[in-house]
Amino acid sequence: MTTLRGLLDARCAAVPDAVAVEPAGRPGEGTTWTALRERARAVAAALVRDGVAPGERVVLVARNDTSYFPILFGAGLAAAVLTPLNWRLAGDEIAAMIDDSGATMVLVDEPAAAALAGVLADRPGVRHVVVLGTASGDVRSFDDWVGPAEDPQRPVAPDDVAFQLYTSGTTGRPKGAMFAGTNLAVLVDDIARAWGFRDGDVSLVAMPLFHMGGLAWALAGMARGARAVVVRDIVPTDVLDAIEAHGVTTAFCVPTMLAALCAVPGIDSRPLGLRQMIYSGSPIGEDALKRAMVALRCDFVQIYGLTEATGAFAQLSAEEHREGGPALTSAGRPYPWTELRVVDPESGAEVAPGVVGEIWTRSAQNMVGYWQRPEETAAALTPEGWLRTGDLGRLDEAGRIHLVDRAKDRIVTGGENVYPAEVERVLAQHPDVAEVAVIGVPDDRWGEAVKAVVVLQAGSTPDTAGIIAFARGRLAGFQSPKSVDVVEALPRTATGKVIKPTLREPYWRGHERRIH
Ligand code: ATP
Repeated sequence: MTTLRGLLDARCAAVPDAVAVEPAGRPGEGTTWTALRERARAVAAALVRDGVAPGERVVLVARNDTSYFPILFGAGLAAAVLTPLNWRLAGDEIAAMIDDSGATMVLVDEPAAAALAGVLADRPGVRHVVVLGTASGDVRSFDDWVGPAEDPQRPVAPDDVAFQLYTSGTTGRPKGAMFAGTNLAVLVDDIARAWGFRDGDVSLVAMPLFHMGGLAWALAGMARGARAVVVRDIVPTDVLDAIEAHGVTTAFCVPTMLAALCAVPGIDSRPLGLRQMIYSGSPIGEDALKRAMVALRCDFVQIYGLTEATGAFAQLSAEEHREGGPALTSAGRPYPWTELRVVDPESGAEVAPGVVGEIWTRSAQNMVGYWQRPEETAAALTPEGWLRTGDLGRLDEAGRIHLVDRAKDRIVTGGENVYPAEVERVLAQHPDVAEVAVIGVPDDRWGEAVKAVVVLQAGSTPDTAGIIAFARGRLAGFQSPKSVDVVEALPRTATGKVIKPTLREPYWRGHERRIH
């Protein structure tokens, strides 16, 4: 199962009539593994017919849909590299990624076809096909495009690139992270086992499939016998309805989605029937976690990782969640097949347990590299094969990782280190604060000064002095914000992370920000 073809064939041999994927809200309308393979072959034949060469990137810009999977596997059968992009991005950002990928074939859903009409018209060398919805104008529809299901039988080796995902750019310009069959093998075997999938599971695929989180979760589950229920738009009540209607047993969410689910009135008494909820992606407050555990009444598992490590490489188990205590504020222990180091980012030397350093990981999960970016690849992967995560953290006596913050977001003020996540955790407890992000802004005296940018709870009046005083009562003086700005909304990625560079940008115009 070290290639997409191998995975598809293995499932078809084992469970040809089992449902592989099903659209949320439409139970009983799923696609079996055999039907998925037929569809994938049709996609592969069309790609080959349209001149897509082995190793070529095929871009997909679409909302979550069951058809993602025949397209992903079809690209694999054609030895092409599916490169799904975030449909929420602006046209010029998507255009930059299409150009960067070198794709000559772009598959879009109908809203993306409309949104990208100008981008596509400007690129006569790029063909495009509408894969969802009805085609109009000179755009061919998916069914017209695919034609007969003929497997092109193109060879693919396990270390050939199987798919490419663009990083979301919370720490810099998006880069195409490449993953080979060897990455896929760890995902669908070791990682999928760690995620506790069982035969007969029904997994909720609600996180975007253009991100590693959503894609890895879907593939790992499908490989281990789970039916994937694919959610198109995350509307919290619809998601809860889908969990009930499809008999979902296992789900993956980011903290913002968990919070949205828990805010649905009456959730505590709904017969949800979940066995486990896996969450990851950004820090979660202890109160929010405990609230979610009560509301969803199932096992909770936290995973920690990043795109470049094919998703997760550490996990906080369901037992540790049940026990509670200090473990709950950690991101768990590294998987046994991975190596982990906490190092001084400057020297690369390992720091003592309990000391904050950059987290490095090494395993067959690490990406191949960034597409056509040797310098950025060399900065991320050391010659010895360590992936520098860019996350700062420390290990406790039990070997658990405690994440402190991202290295690029650390504030150095008057020579003191401030980790915004620690300040955010405190400010989030202020009754008037609905959302908060803490950043460093240029300051003549201190180098950088701590600033909090907050979204207020509906109906509260801005009292920035009160928020600063609240922080001062709970944090050291150098950690407390010197100023507070109130905004309507924070800039966030599709997975709910605050985009700190966007937030910092207006304050840093005309200044150069040193990354310490
Ligand atoms: P980019 O790499 O372009 O900055 P991104 O932030 O979306 O984009 P991802 O790979 O999706 O990148 O996210 C990985 C990051 O998410 C990790 O490096 C870490 O900072 C954060 N993260 C992941 N899991 C957890 C977790 N369990 N708790 C806290 N933070 C987490």
